[in-house]
Amino acid sequence: MKNQTQQIEQKAAQILRASDAYRAPIPLESVVNQLGLIAQARGLADASGVLVVENGRGVIGYNSAHSSVRQRFTIAHEIGHYVLHVKSQQPRLFIDKSVFRRDDESSTGNDHEEVEANQFAAALLMPSELVRNEIKKHAFDLDDEDDVGNLAKRFNVSTAAMSFRLENLGLLRS
Ligand SMILES: [Zn+2]
Repeated sequence: MKNQTQQIEQKAAQILRASDAYRAPIPLESVVNQLGLIAQARGLADASGVLVVENGRGVIGYNSAHSSVRQRFTIAHEIGHYVLHVKSQQPRLFIDKSVFRRDDESSTGNDHEEVEANQFAAALLMPSELVRNEIKKHAFDLDDEDDVGNLAKRFNVSTAAMSFRLENLGLLRS
């Protein structure tokens, strides 16, 4: 399991470097373009995002009514599905009701993919090394909620997503 997490972290970092996007905040459009994907805001009712893969082409739809930090996490999550779960010529459709916070979701058999897509999204938007660099550079105090918020702003992610990431990186006491 540990090994798989490392593989996802490495994959995300590799894609960021190939996309010339390894900086804060991550320019997600560069990653989307590099992978030959299309990302479009859509009226999606109660869904956060969708990924449609047909004829080897991937189109991401994200909820036009959501905040930009939420949209970014959704796009990164769908990129995760595309990178980790799509086999080249196989058509697939992913519909995500709520990404990131899935505690209330029932088990669907696809939970494994959802966990991986979220891990990938966090690694893509908040690469470990970049997060550590920014903390150092700005002398952020992670015991200070305001500083965690400011760090989240540096990466254009929600404070909740950043807190969760810091915990997973062992940088924050939960
Ligand atoms: Zn998903």
